[in-house]
Amino acid sequence: MQHRFKSDQGGSTENATGVYLASFGAAQTVTGSKHILYTPDVDILIDCGLFQGIKSLRIKNWEAPGFEIERIGALCLTHAHLDHCGYIPRLVGAGYRGKIYMTAPTRELTELILRDSAKIQEEDAWKANRYGYSKHHPAKPLYTLTDVERCLHQFVTIEPGVEINIAKQVSMKYMLSGHIPGACSITFTVSDKKVLFSGDIGRTHSAFLDAPQHGAPADVIIMESTYGDRLHGTQEAESELEDAINSTLEIGGNVMIPCFAVGRAQEIIRILYLLKQAGKIPLSLPVYLDSPMAAAASEILLRYPEWSTLSENECRMMMKGLIINEKHENTIGIIKNKKSKIIIAGSGMLSGGRILEYLKHYAGDKRNCLILSGFQAEGTRGRALLEKTHEIRIDGQYFPVRARTVSLNNLSAHADQHELIEWLKSSSKKETQVFLVHGEPGAQESLRVKIRVTLGFEARIIREDEKMKLFDILNALAKKKTSKLAK
Ligand SMILES: [Zn+2]
Repeated sequence: MQHRFKSDQGGSTENATGVYLASFGAAQTVTGSKHILYTPDVDILIDCGLFQGIKSLRIKNWEAPGFEIERIGALCLTHAHLDHCGYIPRLVGAGYRGKIYMTAPTRELTELILRDSAKIQEEDAWKANRYGYSKHHPAKPLYTLTDVERCLHQFVTIEPGVEINIAKQVSMKYMLSGHIPGACSITFTVSDKKVLFSGDIGRTHSAFLDAPQHGAPADVIIMESTYGDRLHGTQEAESELEDAINSTLEIGGNVMIPCFAVGRAQEIIRILYLLKQAGKIPLSLPVYLDSPMAAAASEILLRYPEWSTLSENECRMMMKGLIINEKHENTIGIIKNKKSKIIIAGSGMLSGGRILEYLKHYAGDKRNCLILSGFQAEGTRGRALLEKTHEIRIDGQYFPVRARTVSLNNLSAHADQHELIEWLKSSSKKETQVFLVHGEPGAQESLRVKIRVTLGFEARIIREDEKMKLFDILNALAKKKTSKLAK
């Protein structure tokens, strides 16, 4: 559906006085983040992510966005994950010529992630045409490397903690959200009101990132709710991983750890390094990083030590113990090597990437172990494996699953229910309006009820097809004048 909101409300219409909100992704689901803040001065797009997971969602990546691109005056990215930045080449391809704001690490990581995404899209289209398992003739990539290169000059780097004017009555400030390096929440000040977009909220006590920061209480909060119904486990991820590795080694199996190249891969590498240093897993156990992207992301993070709590030296030592495989052709050699090993490869939800090659060969053997370490969205292979599927489809073929699957519950880049409530408490005041995005329906409903019971707010779950008025600017200005007169 195109141009759903061609009304004269909001937008840059002269008479508009209201500020509105609408979501075009990550509404009652966890991927495809795209939210618009409509102000009288400018329409702002917050995040521009790809839908992932079930086909009915992925198909939306091919549709025109439901908003008027020509009215968007600024795109503000919270962080570099694909479900927050992966649609940018399509947006630019459809005519967006404005600025794309982000922090310095997010800029480098986004470039890396978009290039990788284009490569995967091109490879998938090529394979589908070669082996004929697509309904589309010919199968086309969602975007190409050339499309990605075209958008990079629109990127604008900004400093967190600095207020920036993006229109006459609109300014914004980024604050660290503790989710991955570079990730931020964004507060927009429109006239005298504050609207806070949480982005993805990290853990309060992360092993390598600072805790999420808070600014002045906001009038409106749009917050994520991925783990709105869950508390992360109390067992330390280190000991969970140690148990899974050692029990696999005892029976001569291999350990596969699919993970996101940015953030999660570095966290896993750090834990494996610590386990080896402490003698809890064999020092001689080979650890393969079969992900050039994770290796490149680690290099980028080394350039931004201020965004992590780890020292540069600690990062270098962690990376030194790895065998990094750059070439795809070498993957089969690693697979054929009979010795037990650990393999870290993308993608995190097994929707693509080199991990699938390992899965084809290793999933059928019950001695092997697959360790899931992040959120597994509905419809992904990761979710199916988490739910103990007996077979898995890769490149149009079914492979039996006999390998053990272990899920590391305590190793999440997202806050759990308790941490989300604490985050909201620190960011809000009595009259704050709260909207929930970025969560599956069950998680969102649990969090909505929990917020009402513990904090007394009536949080609202955003639907994809609604535009909501947040406040009126004239009223706000009039109120300001009245309160001045009263003094
Ligand atoms: Zn994220």
